[in-house]
Amino acid sequence: MDQEITCKLHGTRLRSGVAHVSYGLPSPDPDLERARVELFPNSRSTVAGGCLFGAIGDDCEVMICDQCREAENRWRKENGRRDWIGFDDILASADG
Ligand SMILES: [Zn+2]
Repeated sequence: MDQEITCKLHGTRLRSGVAHVSYGLPSPDPDLERARVELFPNSRSTVAGGCLFGAIGDDCEVMICDQCREAENRWRKENGRRDWIGFDDILASADG
């Protein structure tokens, strides 16, 4: 299977990373979606559950661009969105 292995935006070689699997309907966020396409196309902090082989539990392995991840985190901070890394903390605390 041929796959793009560099980020078209940053020219960064993609590496395998972890995406948070979100099940159910994602809440629509047009600003985030537009920013994702324009600013961090290979961040892939979240994926829709069931779309990927090998999706196990709450995380699955995807090819990501580190610079896209950084861009997404920066964008989320600047625009008042929750940092994707914080998702795990929320899930962990929801257990109790
Ligand atoms: Zn990138």
